[in-house]
Amino acid sequence: MTIPIEASARHVHLTRKAVEKLFGPGAALAKKRALSQPGEFLAEQRVKLVTPGGQLENVAVLGPARKNVQAEISLTDAIALGIEAPIRLSGDLKGAADVTLIGPAGAFEAPGSAIIARAHVHMTPADARSFGVSDGGVLCVRVNSVRPVVFENVAARVSERYALAMHIDFDEANACRLQQEDNGELLGDEKAPLFRGGSPQGGGCLDDKLITEEKAKSMASQGKLILRKGTIITPSARDIFTQAKTKLEFI
Ligand SMILES: [Zn+2]
Repeated sequence: MTIPIEASARHVHLTRKAVEKLFGPGAALAKKRALSQPGEFLAEQRVKLVTPGGQLENVAVLGPARKNVQAEISLTDAIALGIEAPIRLSGDLKGAADVTLIGPAGAFEAPGSAIIARAHVHMTPADARSFGVSDGGVLCVRVNSVRPVVFENVAARVSERYALAMHIDFDEANACRLQQEDNGELLGDEKAPLFRGGSPQGGGCLDDKLITEEKAKSMASQGKLILRKGTIITPSARDIFTQAKTKLEFI
C-alpha cells in the first residue's frame, strides 16, 4: 500500500478569541477549500506572522478554530524569523517559540506557539492494522520521487477521523523534489514495518539481513534496535550489543 504525500505550507491554527482579535468582533473563519483530513479546511483569511527578527506575509489559516494558537513553520522560516522553533507533533507546544500575528483588525500575541511540524502519517485504525503499526508508532518512509529520500522518525497518527496521508513541510518536500503524483512506501513489509524503537532519538531502523561487527559498532549506541526475524548477527557483533546494553527486538 502506498502513502499519499502532502506538503504542508506554513500555516496557523487559531482560537476563537484570536480569530475575533485578528479579524474583528463576531468574525469566523470562512472556508476556502477542504483539506485531506476530514473537517479541516483552508480559510479565506490570511495573517502576517511577526517576530523581532523578521516577518512572513500572507500566512495561511487553517480551520476550524482550536483550543490553542499554533503556528507551523519550516526551519527555513524559523531562520528567516530569527527564532528557535522546536520540532514537534501538532498539539505539543513544549518549548514552542513566541510570535505575533497581525490581521486586518489587530494584533494577537501568541507566546509559545511556533513549531516545526514533525513528519507524520495520518491513518485510520484499518490502515494501521494493515501496516502493523499503532498510534504513536515511529516509522521509516521512503518517498519515491525524482530525488528519493528516506524519512526516519515519522510519527504514526491513528484515528477513525483521519484519511491516509503523510504530511511533510516545504523543506522536506523540497529535499525530495516532491511532485503531485509522488507517493511514499513504508520500509519493511506490511507484516514487519521498520520503525525506530524506544525513544524517538534512541532507536534503530535496520533492514539488514546480516549484522557484522562494523555495523554493530555504528548502531550499538541506540537504546533499542528492531530487526527482522531471521537476521544473522555475528558473534562479535553480538558481543558489542551486549557490552553497550543495546536491546534487540525481532519482529
Ligand atoms: Zn498532519
